[in-house]
Formats: sequence, structure tokens, C-alpha cells
Amino acid sequence: MSTKNNVKVVVRVRPKLSEDKLWVDVVDDTTLQTVNPRDTTKTDQYEFARVFNSDCSQVDVYNNCAIDSLKHLMQGLNVSIFAYGPTGAGKTHTMLGTPTAPGIIPRSVNGLFQLIEESKEEGWKTEVSYSYLEIYNEKVHDLLVPKEQDLAIRCDLRGKIFVTDLAKEIITNKEEFNKSFGLAANNRTTASTLLNEHSSRSHSILILNVTRTQAVEPFARRHGKMYLTDLAGSENNRMTGNEGQRMRESGAIHFSLLALSNVVEALNKGQARIPYRDSKLTRLLQDALGGNSHSCLIINVAPEESHLYETQQTLLFARKSKRI
Ligand code: ADP
Ligand code: MG
Repeated sequence: MSTKNNVKVVVRVRPKLSEDKLWVDVVDDTTLQTVNPRDTTKTDQYEFARVFNSDCSQVDVYNNCAIDSLKHLMQGLNVSIFAYGPTGAGKTHTMLGTPTAPGIIPRSVNGLFQLIEESKEEGWKTEVSYSYLEIYNEKVHDLLVPKEQDLAIRCDLRGKIFVTDLAKEIITNKEEFNKSFGLAANNRTTASTLLNEHSSRSHSILILNVTRTQAVEPFARRHGKMYLTDLAGSENNRMTGNEGQRMRESGAIHFSLLALSNVVEALNKGQARIPYRDSKLTRLLQDALGGNSHSCLIINVAPEESHLYETQQTLLFARKSKRI
């Protein structure tokens, strides 16, 4: 079985935000140790492709998780980066970051335009556009040009996945992207009264489309997509006592995160049948997860005692998904 569609799984521990005792310890670059929540005299160890300590920088994470993906994207492959973990563990910080500590999204756009600038000398012309959507309760909503309806995910004649009527905006430099994406994020704020609560219960996905044409012989064409995903909080799926809307949301999150884990596990084991169709999330990401693609799953965990149970659940989930 080829190894080209393996999904790399890394863990990032966020800095502590309270005076709580720390119950998570980074042993080395690939080993994480936690106190066992059921028996606090014991510890559990987990191995991943890479473990980022709480004092790692946004640059460290970008260098390890995104730079190679950008090179693959320029070669016409599909790539994806996900942030997975419970609410408050640092997913949005990792993907979006802040103006003073930009995350993977702004850094990747910047890095992409740098690579494009370099490739001009080799006679390549590149067009970049982006789309921004969310999956909420198993429904796909456009966040760039908000519409009420649930957009359909389809497959074209060449087997490429696309979302019908999804808005696409052409961008020619990072400033243009920052301005446009800032407005789209604003749309999202006004569309939902409780942004944080809402965003922790939906998957938000930024898609960068890169189309390149060679202006000289042999006039090659390359088309790749990068999916940058801030997943819904992984804790919601086990909330008990939820009713009505909350229960539907929790069910949808549980269902799609489980589908993602099953797809990643099936890919890493080289299974013949990959269950993409089990959720909207995996269906949409089908051509960025399987086949000739590269993915990185960034597992975010909080180090405090009060988060220990969620941390353990998250790491057990991640362990199931990782490359063997
Ligand atoms: P999530 O999106 O998983 O719910 P956030 O990214 O919103 O979590 O992080 C929760 C809080 O912790 C935020 O206030 C965020 O700024 C802070 N935070 C998360 N990761 C880091 C980090 N690596 N360095 C500094 N602050 C962080
Ligand atoms: Mg968030």
C-alpha cells in the first residue's frame, strides 16, 4: 500500500490559563504524558508524529504542519490541515491566531503568495481564489456570501468534489485576502448572536484554490486545493442532559468527528473501503484526504487539571487516528 495518503497526527498543548495544577507533560518531541484521570497515581503516555510544548510558537507549528503542504499544493495536490480538540484547547488560536501571533491560515496565505512569486521566474502563472463555509448540524452554509440554504456537495465527472453555488473570491495578494476574509468573519459574527458558542458547534472550513499554468512549453496545468479546518469542539458529543437543538447539535458533531476518525484510521491502515460518505465533513474533504493528498491533524489539548478528562478523551481519539 502506498504511504502517500497518510494523515500526520500532531499534538499541541496550550499554555495554562489558570493557576490550576498541570497534569500534562511533554516528555520529548514525540511523547506526551498525562495523569490518568481514574487513578491519579498513574500516568499514561502517548506517541505522535510531533508533540508541541505549550511554549512553542505559531511559527513552529506552521513550519511543521503547513510548509510541506504548501509545496504539495503548488504541485497540484490537495492538502488539508485540521485543528481538533475540546472548546478552549486552542483550535482557533492555532488556525487563525491573533494579529500579533497569526496562526496557520494567515501564514499559509502569506507563504503561498511567496511561493507564487518565486515560481513566476520559472514561467508559471497562478490564480488563487478562496471559499469559506461551515458545516453546522450536517448542513453546509456559505460564510463568504451568506445564504440561508444548505448547499449540496457533489462530485464532477472527473471525480472531483465541489459544493454547488459556493461563492469563490479571487485574491491576488495577502492584503486582499486579509481584508476580504476579515469581512467574511464579520458576516459570521452578525449572523450568529453567540459567536463563540456557535463556532464551537460548527466546523469552519477555508478552501484555497490554486490553479497554475505554465506560460512556456510544455504548458502544464496544475490545480490543487488546500482545506484549512477549525473543527467543532470535540466535547459536545458527550454532553448529557442536552435537549432539543443542543441535542441535535451534539449528535451531529459526534457523528461527523467519528466519521473523520474512521476515515483517517481507514486511510492510515490502507483499507480498501474508506467511509467518506458517512458525514458531510468527510464527503467534502474526500479528495483532500484520500488519493494523492496530504493531511495534518493538529490535536489541541489544555494542560490544566480541570480539563484532564477531556484531554484524555481527545488523546484516545487521536491515538486511534494516527499513523502506525
Ligand atoms: P478553541 O478554539 O479550541 O475553543 P481558542 O483557540 O479559542 O480555543 O483558545 C482558548 C483561549 O486560549 C483563547 O483565549 C486563546 O487566545 C488562548 N490560547 C490558546 N492557545 C494559545 C497559545 N498557544 N498561546 C496563547 N494563548 C492561547
Ligand atoms: Mg474556537
